[in-house]
Amino acid sequence: MYMNLVTSEFHQTVEGLISNLTEENYIDVEEYRLARKHNALPIGIDLWIYIFLTPYGEAILDDGESDNPEILRTTQAIIRVVAGAKRYPQLEKFIPNRPNGSKVCPACDGTKNFGQDVSSRKPVRCVVCGGLGWVIDEA
Ligand SMILES: [Zn+2]
Repeated sequence: MYMNLVTSEFHQTVEGLISNLTEENYIDVEEYRLARKHNALPIGIDLWIYIFLTPYGEAILDDGESDNPEILRTTQAIIRVVAGAKRYPQLEKFIPNRPNGSKVCPACDGTKNFGQDVSSRKPVRCVVCGGLGWVIDEA
């Protein structure tokens, strides 16, 4: 019923990004280690958890210490990760338009920002919707 975000083009784009990364593209050695371990694209660090995107449309959340990192496969999770992946402009085209049946993000109330950065006092992108302002209902 819902959009097919993870197309073969998506797969190839993410794989291409992964294979083009060089060591200096990583935030730190831990991100490098985990990216190699998961064979996934490093997206960023959120609350001390490293976020990765696989070519198969999975979001991997790994704190580097757990044997069982969390793997998210819901469409919402992937949209959130892709929308938040400012490191890779190549992923922008995969951010979908707001679909029918979506609802205003309950965390940011559609403002796309949630809270503010402790040091800079700048608004922080909403982590629930990835800065889109909407979420989709997934049972
Ligand atoms: Zn939000």
